[in-house]
Amino acid sequence: MIVILKNGVQREKRDQLVDWLKEQGLGIHVSEGEFQTVLGLIGDVSNVDMELIGSLGIVDSVKRVSESFKCCNRKFHPEDTVVEVGGVKVGGGHFAMIAGPCSVESEEQIVAVAKAVKASGADMMRGGAFKPRTSPYDFQGLKATGIELLKLARAETGLPIVTEIMSVSHLPLFEDVDVIQVGARNMQNFDLLRELGKIRKPILLKRGLANTLKELLMSAEYIMAGGNEQVILCERGIRTFDDYTRNTLDLAAVPMLHELTHLPVIVDPSHATGIARLVRPMALAAAACGSDGLIIEVHNDPLHALCDGAQSLRPEEYDALARDVAVVRGVVNQ
Ligand code: PEP
Ligand code: MN
Repeated sequence: MIVILKNGVQREKRDQLVDWLKEQGLGIHVSEGEFQTVLGLIGDVSNVDMELIGSLGIVDSVKRVSESFKCCNRKFHPEDTVVEVGGVKVGGGHFAMIAGPCSVESEEQIVAVAKAVKASGADMMRGGAFKPRTSPYDFQGLKATGIELLKLARAETGLPIVTEIMSVSHLPLFEDVDVIQVGARNMQNFDLLRELGKIRKPILLKRGLANTLKELLMSAEYIMAGGNEQVILCERGIRTFDDYTRNTLDLAAVPMLHELTHLPVIVDPSHATGIARLVRPMALAAAACGSDGLIIEVHNDPLHALCDGAQSLRPEEYDALARDVAVVRGVVNQ
């Protein structure tokens, strides 16, 4: 249920109403927009007297929110959420380019790629230290050492780092990471999501391989219900019957999610296609359909990459793509 307040309501009157609603055992999410203040009621609202609240002098209207996702619902928070990472903003008109290798492989590799993507204007750098691999015999990542190497590359370039967490028990290692990524395979690891709700750090939540948008939003809800509201959603392709591409990039998810939620939505054309030559067209299409950013795999030697070389761009290809994305954004924003 949401309670929309009249314009210019005194803070004291608003707080009285919030306290009274809290006394009824409800959680209250206050969204203070430029034009409107919206109170989102979280919990069992079946006994809440809508008519009584609607009759209060400071209340403009009261509406039921039928969707099961509340905190991430745009009805609760009509304005776009802007997630801030260091000086970088994502969402609400701010577009972020995140680039880097699938996996951190060595100091030389991560520093070289970080410097290259920084020179091409990237806002953040990615790199997996803990890798969720289909086969247990494949390279599993450099783990804690990988995170240390990412920090080193950050010190060299100033780029904030984005890296994936696979287990709650690894959380202490991520204390100095700028954005914690929850990969597609862990989108419904509810214990992990709950723990990430307790910290105050941006979370990049990727859509699961075979999950609906509603399930993605419910996973964001797990994080936000704990009080961590800095969530960035990522469309990275889903499983369909076609197998020419690694996954099927669901670009309609971008405008649909923008309708449903106030959270920023970015696109990963690398994992969505699995093919380096398809990354550019899909990245441009994502920029055209309202994505708030892109996360792209870049490797300085894709042929010898320990993971996902086939979908990795060379630094010069990334550079050209970044320029073209900026052109598309310019056209879309006209
Ligand atoms: C990744 O970004 O490194 C990754 C494993 O992606 P996804 O979880 O989308 O497969
Ligand atoms: Mn990868």
